[in-house]
Amino acid sequence: MEDFFTYVALFSAALLLIWLLLYFYKRNLKKEKKAYSESRLKKQRTESGGIDFVRCPMCNTPLAQGEDMTSRVFRPMNTPDQRMTILGCPHCYPSVERGARRTCPVCRKDVPLDGYLIARLFNKEHNKKHVIITGCTLCYGPQKKQRE
Ligand SMILES: [Zn+2]
Ligand SMILES: [Zn+2]
Repeated sequence: MEDFFTYVALFSAALLLIWLLLYFYKRNLKKEKKAYSESRLKKQRTESGGIDFVRCPMCNTPLAQGEDMTSRVFRPMNTPDQRMTILGCPHCYPSVERGARRTCPVCRKDVPLDGYLIARLFNKEHNKKHVIITGCTLCYGPQKKQRE
């Protein structure tokens, strides 16, 4: 009978060990996954010299490699500044992800799905591009432009 109890005790100890190993393994895996998805996020140098994530100007979601904004650039291509419209990133266009909100960085209003942001794209030397958001269809629409 004593042998049986020793066996049960050993067995449960082994089970506990396996469970603990699995627990730490899973926890580690989760950490690695998070670090991996974070390392895939695009980064840019800010004007103050720091490193920041590249975020969607519309919904502020950090963008990963391969996630590009849906935008249109208008011709001519060789001028120093071009008109550009930004429809959104994969998180907010063509459908809005849960938790994401399409807001205009200029007027802070919600931009509808058929609306877009209007920006000026400056082609700088060394192929560097600089984008300045001038507004959205609500605050910088065609009506306002005609008035100017
Ligand atoms: Zn977005
Ligand atoms: Zn706006």
